[in-house]
Amino acid sequence: MTETTSTVFHRYCLLGDESPDTILISTDEVHFYVHRKQIMGASDSLWAGLLISSPESLPSSSLHVTEYAPTLEIILRSIYRLSLEDYSATLETVLAAINAMKMHGISLKSHISPGMPLFNALVDKLPSAPLEVYCVAAENDLFELACEASKYLLHMSMSSVTDVIALRLGHLYLRMLFDLLSERTRILQRLVIQPPPQHPPTALCGSDEYRGLQSAWSKMACTPILSGGPDTSVEMLRATFNSDNFLNSCPTCVQFINRHVEDVLSRWSTTPNTICRNPMDFRVALPSQQVTPQLDISSAMV
Ligand SMILES: [Zn+2]
Repeated sequence: MTETTSTVFHRYCLLGDESPDTILISTDEVHFYVHRKQIMGASDSLWAGLLISSPESLPSSSLHVTEYAPTLEIILRSIYRLSLEDYSATLETVLAAINAMKMHGISLKSHISPGMPLFNALVDKLPSAPLEVYCVAAENDLFELACEASKYLLHMSMSSVTDVIALRLGHLYLRMLFDLLSERTRILQRLVIQPPPQHPPTALCGSDEYRGLQSAWSKMACTPILSGGPDTSVEMLRATFNSDNFLNSCPTCVQFINRHVEDVLSRWSTTPNTICRNPMDFRVALPSQQVTPQLDISSAMV
């Protein structure tokens, strides 16, 4: 019978100038030629004892593993630090590889950190499965991966978190996600509630005109406050506070408005959009000692 061999881990696959000395055979009978030293070094349990049965002194040995070829391919590419970009694995296969790595005593923290092939493969899955990746990150305390995943969860409502998901996330990662969503919501509200400052009165523009400006600002602020969430984009805010809405204001007011809008946009753009270990890290976006004005939403909506 013809031997099916991995296209990457074939018999001529060199590590430096060393030829393979071990063959791993997947459940579906694909042969992977590897270097025992390399795969032993990645595991703190000799692949859960698999490698003990075949001493290094043997010139070549074949070992049957319990993984299918696609799963084993991901594990070995991770160990050899080979890119997975050209390998279109499904999320299920990537997750199977992660589970197998844990079973074989291969450190996930070492192989799923920024820049590592498996980290990049999981980041590629984020647009379609952010919550699943966040759960996997939480289950294995992979903070950097959880950070990346959390960027894609800004639209989420905490009320949609089921008991099963909460259990998978655990207290710490559940709290960090809750903090991310609630703090961004709170910061957005505080930023947009604050109206532009009043300029010194002039013959054309005084307190009455400023009250009109405040009222117009409040009406606009209602949009992000009532319907905007943690995933509100800077572009959405810019469109909301369009200066065309202040055409009746004096030139100095318009200058103050434009400057204030740019400040709000700048602060919102620098508000953390990933989980933070410390909730106070979110507050850096707010002006120091900012006092939140009381906004009468009902009157502003008239
Ligand atoms: Zn004015």
